[in-house]
Amino acid sequence: MPKDKGKKKTKEVREKVLLQSSLVWDKLTPRERKMVCSFAEGYKHFLNAAKTEREAVAEIERYAIAHGFKGVGDPAARDRLYKVYKHKAIGLAVVGKRPLIEGVRLIVSHLDSPRLDLKQNPLYEEVSLAFLKTHYYGGIKKYQWVTRPLALHGKIVKKDGSELELRVGEGEDDPVFTILDLLPHLARKVQYEKKLDEAIVGEKLNVVVGSLPYPDEETQERIKLQILNYLYRTFGVVEEDFMSAELELVPAGKARDIGWDKGLVGAYGQDDRVCVYSSLCALGETTTPQITALALFLDKEEVSSEGNTSARSKFLEDMVAGIFASSGVTMDEHTLKQTLMNSYAISADVNGALDPDYQEVHEKRNAAKLGYGVCVTKFTGSGGKYASSDANAEYVGMIRRLFNRHSIVWQTGELGRVDEVR
Ligand code: MN
Repeated sequence: MPKDKGKKKTKEVREKVLLQSSLVWDKLTPRERKMVCSFAEGYKHFLNAAKTEREAVAEIERYAIAHGFKGVGDPAARDRLYKVYKHKAIGLAVVGKRPLIEGVRLIVSHLDSPRLDLKQNPLYEEVSLAFLKTHYYGGIKKYQWVTRPLALHGKIVKKDGSELELRVGEGEDDPVFTILDLLPHLARKVQYEKKLDEAIVGEKLNVVVGSLPYPDEETQERIKLQILNYLYRTFGVVEEDFMSAELELVPAGKARDIGWDKGLVGAYGQDDRVCVYSSLCALGETTTPQITALALFLDKEEVSSEGNTSARSKFLEDMVAGIFASSGVTMDEHTLKQTLMNSYAISADVNGALDPDYQEVHEKRNAAKLGYGVCVTKFTGSGGKYASSDANAEYVGMIRRLFNRHSIVWQTGELGRVDEVR
């Protein structure tokens, strides 16, 4: 074979049989690049408004109403429905042309992120400073939470049942809160000689909230009293009100662009609000699909989906029942089960991308890479795929054909090396 012809043949073979991976940016037209960037602006707004699961639900409900969704049970509801569940979970559905019993296309993502919750009796004074005690929620690296500005978000249910929403630390003139860390000169034994995850302990994640005394020099715990007096005068809150409150400390501040080229978004809570926002927009832009499209936004993923607003709750069944009711079809237990059995679901969450500085924890050939498209993860779990839901080849094949047909740039990815993940 002549040399030129041989090269051409090799090229043909390579293109035909080798797995190609591409940077999304290379596949976009200039117009699409602009669309990506304007989508990211909307995403940053969402991240700023929705820093807790409750705020995310409120934000999604606002979006739903603005995009023509009506509450399940609303007589005006037709083919765009939503339902809020206990202020911490929400579902959106766009009813399809096919009968509901043929199943739904479901995408599920989680609204909660790791954070510091206040304990139920949080306020105390020590060495003439007032603090709030916290109990961390989800998988945090504790050293990341000290010496940084924190904002307090959440709800207080007062003695008479009235509710107070709090959001302190996000406005430019708001105070912020912070956790002290030990000065380097004294840290040798209690921190430096310990393992990283033992150097900062949970019971020391106490947040400074006050340093000025109540004016009466004769009274006890004047700093704590001054703070309580402020809370009472400003919000009508007394110490016992913390008992029926859910107050969460999150990193203060807004989402920012990262890098000179502004190619990345840096913000708290992108696990899993990146999936939340993208599936929300997908539902918002869906009109008259063949099969009913359903998105569930749930809580408590960070604590293994326990609790009545989690994926283990009956919210999915309730939402499907709500869609049946809205369409005037009577639904029995069997119909509901049939519908669920005929459905396809995607569990949408973040995966780890290959970390340039810690490549040794990944298995490069099966790690997702930043910028190489949506990551499809067939299975998760640890050890021998323990506690994993391993998707069938047929289902992955269906997703693959769908993505390729629509020129979606996608990749697969496992979280880390076998036996590395815990
Ligand atoms: Mn997640």
